[in-house]
Parts: sequence; structure tokens; C-alpha cells
Amino acid sequence: MFADIILPLNLPQILTYGVPHEMQESLQPGMRVEVALGKNKQYAGIIERLHNERPEGYQVKPIRGIIDDEPVVNEKQLQFWRWIAQYYMAAPGEVMQAALPAHMKLMGETRLEWVGDESVVYEWSNEAWMAVDALVMRKELTISELRNTIGTRHFASVLNELLEQEVIQINETLETVYRPRREKVVALALAYKEEKALMALFDQLSRAPKQLELLMAYTELSIKMGVVKQNDLLDRTAASATQVKALADKGIFIIEEKNVDRLIYASIKEAKEIVFTEAQQIAYKELDKALEEKNVALLHGVTGSGKTLLYIHKIKECIAAGKQAILLLPEIGLTTQLVSRLHAYFGDILGVYHSHFSNNERVEIWEKVRKGTYKVVAGPRSALWLPYNDIGVIIVDEEHDSSYKQKDPAPRFHARDAAIYLASLFDAKVILGSATPSVESLFNVQHSKYGYIPLKDRYQGVEMPVIEVINAKSLETVRQLGVKLITPELQKAMLEALQHKKQIILFQNRRGYAPFQLCTVCGWVPQCKNCSVSLTYHKSTDKMHCHYCGLKAAVTQTCPQCGSNKLISKSFGTEKIEEEVQQIFPDARVARMDVDSMRGKHSMSELLDQLEKRKVDILVGTQMVVKGLDFASVSLVGILSADSLLSYPDFRVNERAFQLMEQVSGRAGRVDGKGKVLIQSYNLQHPVLQWVKDHDVHSFYRQEIRYREHFGYPPYSRIIKIIFKHQDEPKAIAAATQMAEALKTIEGIILQGPAPATVPRVRNLFIHEIWIKCPRDNKLLETVKSFLKKEKAHILSKKGNTNVQVIFDVDPF
Ligand code: ADP
Ligand code: ZN
Ligand code: ZN
Repeated sequence: MFADIILPLNLPQILTYGVPHEMQESLQPGMRVEVALGKNKQYAGIIERLHNERPEGYQVKPIRGIIDDEPVVNEKQLQFWRWIAQYYMAAPGEVMQAALPAHMKLMGETRLEWVGDESVVYEWSNEAWMAVDALVMRKELTISELRNTIGTRHFASVLNELLEQEVIQINETLETVYRPRREKVVALALAYKEEKALMALFDQLSRAPKQLELLMAYTELSIKMGVVKQNDLLDRTAASATQVKALADKGIFIIEEKNVDRLIYASIKEAKEIVFTEAQQIAYKELDKALEEKNVALLHGVTGSGKTLLYIHKIKECIAAGKQAILLLPEIGLTTQLVSRLHAYFGDILGVYHSHFSNNERVEIWEKVRKGTYKVVAGPRSALWLPYNDIGVIIVDEEHDSSYKQKDPAPRFHARDAAIYLASLFDAKVILGSATPSVESLFNVQHSKYGYIPLKDRYQGVEMPVIEVINAKSLETVRQLGVKLITPELQKAMLEALQHKKQIILFQNRRGYAPFQLCTVCGWVPQCKNCSVSLTYHKSTDKMHCHYCGLKAAVTQTCPQCGSNKLISKSFGTEKIEEEVQQIFPDARVARMDVDSMRGKHSMSELLDQLEKRKVDILVGTQMVVKGLDFASVSLVGILSADSLLSYPDFRVNERAFQLMEQVSGRAGRVDGKGKVLIQSYNLQHPVLQWVKDHDVHSFYRQEIRYREHFGYPPYSRIIKIIFKHQDEPKAIAAATQMAEALKTIEGIILQGPAPATVPRVRNLFIHEIWIKCPRDNKLLETVKSFLKKEKAHILSKKGNTNVQVIFDVDPF
């Protein structure tokens, strides 16, 4: 018997090993086994398939040992991995690396550190006791040492037990280990839980006003929140931490440190029952009907129309039918607000996957999904890797969101598309939800592949905000005051909002913008004549480049459209804007939300908390502000430079710009009164601005799809991007050129490049790219993919090319 085994390495192929006679009975696909590769490297691999086909061309090595006594990865997962590897041209080992949580990929040398609490009495199984003894004594063990101590048979279950109790930490040199932030939580001592005792306590403290105040605040908070954080208590009173401690010393309070993430959940009371509005009722019926006929339905509902409510209802139905449900969210869509809301409906059967998870949290979720304790999982794209038993429905919220695409490292998969495949394995249904659906999904609706359910009204008739486009030329009138970014019109609106004690969001395109040229008189932006995308300025050549086809054009001094020479090539980051806002409104409380300021796991939730408590008047942010923010008192949204959105060098530029402006607008005036959105631009005539003004998705789509067809962009084609990286630029170019030459022999595809990437040099590596446009023809696509793999091997086998990196990205978006 032979076993195909996936190793956690970037190998183009799955390796076959021999199954020793004594193992034949016990092996199953999905189990981990120990195998050797090369001279003396040991790996834990996963059995992909068992068979009797002796491989040719190499000496088969035997499996060294079995790690698990039952599969850790189920058959459906293996099938899913296979598809991802195949479709997205990733190595099976790369898929495994992404899919398996750290504790399941352990290598012999990985160290486990004892971080348990000496004063806590844990409950352990008999096998775990041995491990704990050894760990407490030695403080640290390697995986192999631990395995020697307790034997292979119980190894996996003991490891899970230790991780679940959070007494060990996995120290991998490569991985930065996340330590959960802990927070002090205050509770009332048991003796005062009874009403009488509490009353007596109030009396007793009547002569200590500070302590009395603390006790009162505590009572209030515990009714409202369930769990009382020391910080909230201090916020609410004029007391100090020392005074809280004094109450603890008296035996009245108990102060404990707790993991913050687990706290969110405790604080919510029962959920209200869902009562649909008439519009929601109709939409829900249509959704059901659509899903009877089709596997995928697009729920197109404006922000605030109640999509989330429909999801919740659908998930409940799915659970009632005994199945599991997945709610996929964009990278930062998983806010405390949403989690609380979901938790109120689902309680302990809800698993939440965060974007920064600790190993322990991963273990917990993985195991609970496997055992079926978690019936619903809400999380970003990585939630697709969990070991589901029986999926009933997968919901992809904000399906247009670009964070569903994994860019780096491999597998470079798109979670929306992968979700549709995963659902098909279970005969499950998929709901795609968005206020601004992707062109792809609208295309699939148009071609009757997906059902379509519109939900037009906002809940309780909250109106969509009024949108005005402001001519950015008016910035000239304030330039001598040192103002460069905020027009007088926007300033006036801001002042008004501040006077009415409303909050303001100012949006600026993400900081990694591509440098572009723009005419400040007519809004003209230089475009590539071949590819119809904006050109970007490259300092090294002092030329404008097209990063699709490599065209280089001189930098113009005069605008070919209006003849003016007022061209600018600058954009500003959020930091500059924050400064300028503070300069204009010195008394306003300004905060910033971008990738730089939101690095830590909790900085985001802290800022959200401040916003909610209205401790911030003006929020300056990038793409991040678009997602998941839901604040009733935001009345004004300013989009500072529509031009930088509209000149991004990408064929999706209009789609992204439209979606972003629509989504940002949705943040204004959600509950009381009308919100206002002001968009600054030099190009008032740009059609996208008109569609945004009218919230007209369909006109936008009709125009956009024509352009995509004309230039052969998706959904009329599939794109494969091939990336070449090397320290020496000539080597990267040579490899790219060789690939391009080879590809010319394939008929029916369109090649673009080689050309330098938008960001042409990263970490000392020069990057060149080729784009392949392949018509939507699965056979041709397969031909191209296998050709690419062969040619890559060929290129890498050439002398001097071994260090070239060749990376494939299918549907690079
Ligand atoms: P979306 O997901 O489309 O943005 P939500 O489901 O978040 O919309 O709804 C927006 C707001 O309106 C939420 O605060 C939600 O609780 C409220 N809401 C929507 N529909 C109802 C309803 N039928 N009953 C009570 N509240 C509702
Ligand atoms: Zn001009
Ligand atoms: Zn071009």
C-alpha cells in the first residue's frame, strides 16, 4: 500500500511513501504521519490518499510513524484543498500551511513553554498529567521530548488539552507569538450577592463617599453590561485604581485579570425577536425562492436595509435543520458591534474567528467546529479552512470587498469564489450580500447563474445622504492660509456639523496610492492607450509607466485636454490631513484610522469605543473607515480626493471607486435625519461621480460591463498574473522574457508585459510581471496552467536562475 502525503513545503508535487505492513489497518486519509525527506529532515505530513499504485522513477521511503489515531482533516477538507491548489496554482503544501492551525503543523524542534498558573488547580486526563509534570519541572519541552514522554498515541489529544487550558505557549522562532491582552475585571464578593447584604453594605459605606460612589457605579454597570471592567468603573467615577483596590482589600470587590476577547460575549443580554418589516419579509421570501432554484443568490441591499437581520434568520433556519453555517466577513468587518449582535442571537454555538488569533484561540475554534459545538462561525476568509461536518449555508457579507482575495502568501485564493466551491461540496447554499455588488456577481445575475434579491429601503425609512460634488479648484482661494486639502465648502459643512454636536468622517485613499498626474483645471489623468488604465509616475526613469503593458510615456507639462499647465502629481496621507484639520479646528477632537495607527489588535476596538462614546468629533481615515462602522451621529462624510480614487492604475478602478464612495456615503446619517456627503474633485464630469450621486448601481454596471467586454477584462476573461522577482533586475527581466516568449506559442490568449510591477522593487527584489488574459474557456485555462507550471520548472532549472522567484496569481483582482 502507498500513501500520497502532503508536506508543509512548497513542493510542486505530492510525494508518495510506502505504508509499512503493521500500519495498513490503522491509516486513513487526513491523518498525520511522520516521514523523512532528504537526508535527515523529519516532517509531519497529512495523508492525502491511500492507494496501490507504485510510483515510478524513485525509491519509495516508508512512513516512520503515525501521529493521530483519527483523521484531523476530513475528506471534504482534503477535497477543498485539492481544488484550491489546482485552481489557484498553489503547491499542496502551501495550502496545508495556510489551512492547518499552528499546533497541528508542529515540527520536532518546536518548543512548548509552560505558562500555566501555579496557583490554579487544573483538571487533567491521566495522560495529560504526565505531560504537565514534565512541563512544570522543565518549564520547556520540545515536541519530540513531549512525544517521548507520553507516547504517540495520546499525543494529539494531550496537546489539545494543554492548549485549551492555555498552559502552554508554542514558541516558533518564525512566528510572532500573540499574547492576549488582559484586562482587570471587578466583581462583587459572593457574600454581597444577596440583596440584604448589599443593602447593609450601602449603609456601611455611607460615610465613605468615594467608596459608595464606586459601589453604585458598579451596580449600574453590572446591570447594563454584565461584566464590569475596572477601566469602565474608573471612567464613570472620579475614583482611582487605589480606591478600587482598597475595596478589594476589604473583601468587597474581587479583581481578576481576564482575556479581553472572551469578555465581549458575556456582556450581552438576550436578543430581541426578529420582526421583519414588510420589505424585509418580501425579500426573505424571494431569497428562499431564489435558493430553491439556484445555489447562489445575491442580496443587493443598501446599507442599513437589514441584510444582517436576514442573514441571522437564515442562519437560524440552517441550524434548526441540523447544519452548520458560515458568515464570511471582510478583514475588518468583524467589529465588536457585530459580534455582540450575533452573540445575542446565537450564544455559545457561535464561533468567532479574529484576524489576529492566538494559537490557543485557533485550537479552541478548530476543535469546537470539528465536534459540532459551534454551529455558526463568523470570520474572515481563513474561516473557510475549519473542519466543518455539514455546511447548510455560507453567507458572504460585503461580497465585493477586495480583502477576500488573499494576495500573499500562497494560496492566492478568493474567499467568495472558494466559498461557492466549498458550498457545492456540501450541497449548501450561498448568499452574497452587498450594497455595491461586484461586477462579476452582477454579471452572473444577468446571466441567470445567481438569483437576485433587491432590498431598496433603509430600515425605518432613514434616507440616503445628500451627495454633493465640490470643485477642488476652490482650494486655490484658501492656499495662502496654508490650507491644501480641505475646500472652503467642506470647511463650512464641518463647522456646521460640529456646532450641532455631530460627528464627521473624512476619507482619503489608502496611503500606498500610486503617484499619478492630474490636471487641476479639467481633471484629466494620463491613460495608457493600449490598456485604458492610468499611468503612474516612476522616479527612476522620470517617465509615466503603464504597469500592464510596459508602455512608457514622457511626463507632460501641459494638459492635452484643456491646454493648461496646472498639473499636479501629489496626494496626501491621512497624517497630513489630520494636521490640517487640527489647524482649522483647533478645539475639535480628531482621530486617525489607517493601517499605521491601527497596528495592535486592540487599537481598533479602542478607537471604535471612543467613537461610540462620542469622544471623537472628526475621524480621518482610509479604506478602513468604510467597514463595519455604524454610528448614528455621523452626519457628514467628506471624500477628500475622488481623483486619487479614479486614477488608480487598475482596470477595476471605476468599480472600486464607485463602491468605495457608495460605502463611505452609507456611513452618513444612518438614523436621525439626513446625512451629507461632500466629494472633492477636479473632474466634476466624471461619470462615476454622477452614478454615486444618484446611488445608481445599475447604470454604473451597464457602462462598466461594456468597457470590460471591449478591453477583454474579467468577467469576459480570466487573468493570470505571473510575477518574477530577483535581486538583479536583468535576471528578473530575463526570466520574464523567456516566459513571455514561450507563452506566445499558445493560441487564443492575450499577453501583456513583461513590465515592472506598480511597486517595482520590494525588499531589495526587483519585480516584473506578465499578465495573461484567457477567454472563459475551462479547457484552455487548464492548458495554460499546466504549460505555466512546466515552463516555470524549465526556467528554474537553467543555470543562474535558481534564485528567481516565479509566482502565479490566478484572478489577481
Ligand atoms: P445592513 O446589514 O443591511 O447594513 P442591518 O441589518 O445592520 O442592515 O440593519 C440596520 C439597522 O436597522 C440595525 O441597527 C438593525 O438592528 C435595524 N433594523 C433593521 N431591520 C430591523 C427590524 N425589522 N426590526 C428592528 N430593527 C431593525
Ligand atoms: Zn486639463
Ligand atoms: Zn498599457
